[in-house]
Amino acid sequence: HFFPLRGLRCLLFFQSFLEILYRTSSLLVFFASKVLICVVLFQWEVVQKTLNGSQFYAYSVCNVGEPEQDNWLRTTFIQRRPSASRIFVELQFIVRDCNSFDASVPCKETFNLFTSESDADVGTTFRKGQFKKVVTIAPDEITSKNGMRINTETKVVDNLSRKGFYLAFQDIGACVALLSVKVYYKACTATVESLARFPETVAGSENQALREVKGECVENAQSEEVPRIYCTADGEWVVQVGHCQCKPGYEKVGDTCQECQPGFFKAASSDGKCEPCPANTQGLEAGAAFCPCMDGFYQAPTDPITGPCSGLPTAPRDLVATTTQLSAGKLLLSWSPPDDTGGRSDITYSVECQSCEGGACRPCGEKIRYEPASAGLTLTRVTVSELDAHLNYTFIVEAHSGVSMFAGQASARAHKPPSTSALTTSLHYTDPPKITSMTVIEKSVTSLSLSWDVSPRPRLHAPPIRYELTYRKKDDNLDVTTYTVLILEKSSVQISELAPGTAYLFRVQALSSDGSPGGSSIEEQYETLHESTSASILAAAVGGAVMLFIVVVVLFLKRNSHSRQGAEDNYFSKQLKPLKTYVDPHTYEDPNVAVLKFATEIHPSHITKQKVIGAGEFGEVYRGILKVPGRKDVAVAIKTLKPGYTEKQRQDFLSEASIMGQFTHQNIIRLEGVVTKFKHAMIVTEYMENGALDRYLKDHDGEFSSFQLVGMLRGIAAGMKYLSDMSYVHRDLAARNILVNNNLECKVSDFGLSRVLEDDPEGTYTTSGGKIPIRWTAPEAIAYRKFTSASDVWSFGIVMWEVMAFGERPYWDMSNHEVMKAINEAFRLPAPMDCPSAVYQLMLQCWLQDRSKRPRFGDIVSLLDKLLRSPDSLKTIADFDPRVSIRLPSTSGSDGSPFRSVSEWLESIKMSQYSENFTCAGIINMDQVLQMKNEDIKNIGVRLPGHLKRIAYSILGLKDQTSTLSVFAV
Ligand code: AMP
Repeated sequence: HFFPLRGLRCLLFFQSFLEILYRTSSLLVFFASKVLICVVLFQWEVVQKTLNGSQFYAYSVCNVGEPEQDNWLRTTFIQRRPSASRIFVELQFIVRDCNSFDASVPCKETFNLFTSESDADVGTTFRKGQFKKVVTIAPDEITSKNGMRINTETKVVDNLSRKGFYLAFQDIGACVALLSVKVYYKACTATVESLARFPETVAGSENQALREVKGECVENAQSEEVPRIYCTADGEWVVQVGHCQCKPGYEKVGDTCQECQPGFFKAASSDGKCEPCPANTQGLEAGAAFCPCMDGFYQAPTDPITGPCSGLPTAPRDLVATTTQLSAGKLLLSWSPPDDTGGRSDITYSVECQSCEGGACRPCGEKIRYEPASAGLTLTRVTVSELDAHLNYTFIVEAHSGVSMFAGQASARAHKPPSTSALTTSLHYTDPPKITSMTVIEKSVTSLSLSWDVSPRPRLHAPPIRYELTYRKKDDNLDVTTYTVLILEKSSVQISELAPGTAYLFRVQALSSDGSPGGSSIEEQYETLHESTSASILAAAVGGAVMLFIVVVVLFLKRNSHSRQGAEDNYFSKQLKPLKTYVDPHTYEDPNVAVLKFATEIHPSHITKQKVIGAGEFGEVYRGILKVPGRKDVAVAIKTLKPGYTEKQRQDFLSEASIMGQFTHQNIIRLEGVVTKFKHAMIVTEYMENGALDRYLKDHDGEFSSFQLVGMLRGIAAGMKYLSDMSYVHRDLAARNILVNNNLECKVSDFGLSRVLEDDPEGTYTTSGGKIPIRWTAPEAIAYRKFTSASDVWSFGIVMWEVMAFGERPYWDMSNHEVMKAINEAFRLPAPMDCPSAVYQLMLQCWLQDRSKRPRFGDIVSLLDKLLRSPDSLKTIADFDPRVSIRLPSTSGSDGSPFRSVSEWLESIKMSQYSENFTCAGIINMDQVLQMKNEDIKNIGVRLPGHLKRIAYSILGLKDQTSTLSVFAV
């Protein structure tokens, strides 16, 4: 009969609806309404009972008063699903109170559950000797004369291996009625997690508590690695690796990958959604990985396929050709950018030149020069030179963009050739005009007015012609001739300040557009009127020289000031024996009552907050002072509850105080009191100056001796022994949850109910929403939530490792999945460097798979005490052999390839500061590094123990790179 219970698969269930078909003396055969059930009975019988008005049948035996009872009830053969090796048997039964019988008669209140495995149904044959006892079943509640009390108990039958089994119930003199037996196994139900489908998987047995299951991606999803997940013995999925993502063109909708709608696309395998097609693209079909360009729009090869498409640029505008200076064969072309760039910013221009004669145009040929270039221009101008005079030129300027080259080609995303974006202009270019004649218009003692003619005459609106007029005194000594040069824009000039009665030579020439003289010139001689001196001309020359000097001096000073600027740029304590048992605050209906029972109420006016020292899940943690009248001031830590909390959060917050308040031990953080009667709830504890242990050790790497470290561990173990003696299971024991005070005393902290683990950043969510700090948690606690003091011992082993390794992260950078796999395969953490052998042996004991074999906290405290009493016992250092341990950190470069240089390796382990030490010691390649011993590392100048350790670990890891991991014998 199958019951669809979550995670459970029912093998067999029988209850009072069984129908009796026939009966022989001591053997009854039953047929259930749905499942054939055959029960072998000795002394047990079927009785009819009435409970709460309804009638039902039960198997009953009640031979109280008769000595030496041995009554058996056996099930039919129960076939086992091959993978279901762990079976749960849920019993409902009633046991009569022996006190309700005559006190002198023999009477029992328990019965026994037996099982027998078999590969075949043996029918009604019954041999007692073939049955193995599973457990004695004792009732929680016994039934007196009035009223029946039904007990429900679930027992586990583990490690079944044959085709089927029988269950049997042995009565040895009790008065028992068996109402129902439900037999089931647990399975992780088929599920889809992160788009990976995992099949229904029967949960493993205790010694194979985690089953790794391979999954496959749902349709239209893919993953780089095969998705895997663990099925716990409790039928829960935990810690998935390799997640699937919807393929290009598909997006995640619930647990499926759906096609992108038309008009949407998704380019890559990702968790993302389909996005609308970008500008100028079209999405006509569903399931598009990209949207093709609309007609007339294109993409450049460098454009992202997910980006928009662009049109071609329109033509450049306002093309003009100017002859800025008079010069032969040169002109400047300039234009404005196109009105429409097609939505792109990578616009460039090209210039093409044609010379046209008689209406026929041909390319200008290679003679023409372009400055800076004829193509790929980013500025909107170009200088064209080496043009011939008297020719008509046509210049075509074209705008291009990143898509222009594709526009004409048959590319995947472009179908139409582009419309040419060009503008044509023509320029009639001529040489500078000739000077035909020069005349004196006016003369004086110190001035001459001159004018000249040009041929051809300049056209209206034509660019102005510039002239160069040079003059000098005619009779100057030819060795020291002083010329005066004037650039003029008119064909006339008045020259003054000339020497009286002196002959001057004048030469005039038209200038071409680049400013070089061109064309023919004319030279004439004219004389000023007499009675004047030439002093004014000299004065002008001297004035000019002075000015030039001043300019040079200013420039020199400026340069020097610049260059100056440039240069500037440059434990042992008495242990209290706990007498009580921890009370779960949940057992109180009103959690507020629990708080008041276990914690002292403090008035907020007695608390002074001084400084924030940490952040808890519920709010800030402060350091402060507690001033209670009549008591000495004490330094305290104050945990606060942030505003906006819900009542549930307030209760969860205060539950920590309800728990902590029950403990009094040197190594358990002491609760000073609580504030609950005011708006801002607070938990006040003793102040631990050195904060969390993990951080403290990291900050003081290598500063403590093994003796001191073992002393700390002894304290933690003593605290844990106290907790376990009180039947309190911590569940989140880790160095981060141990606090250290000024005397280096370590105290266990972080208590709570629902909040346990919830505020722990190391917690990993399970499918049921719980959180587990995988690398600190015992396998059985991960697998089926078996949190016990023995699982706390496992965590203590990890804390030992953390302490001896000065706060190193357990399992380094391995993923949670890798850690679980390694642990399942019997790998264990290697001994921390310089760890005493005896301490490492204790760690290994804490990490025994079989929890019943792990030491108890009491044993741990005794052993640590022993080690501390004879410090010599700490001198034997544990073997540090990476071949028998799990992966060590930094065994290769990030891509898995070996390191190519010493500096690359040092960088990977963040020890680059020692590069020079290695080089100076002549260690220049990795082969030499691999030869290094711990002594060698010290000798080259690595003194800090933490650094020494990191380097030595890495070298060992490197040596181990090629060898395969071997199972550590534990
Ligand atoms: P918790 O919410 O208990 O994890 O506290 C958060 C952080 O506050 C811890 O990691 C410590 O750094 C700091 N802290 C908590 N309690 C104390 C205390 N009694 N003394 C000193 N620091 C504390």
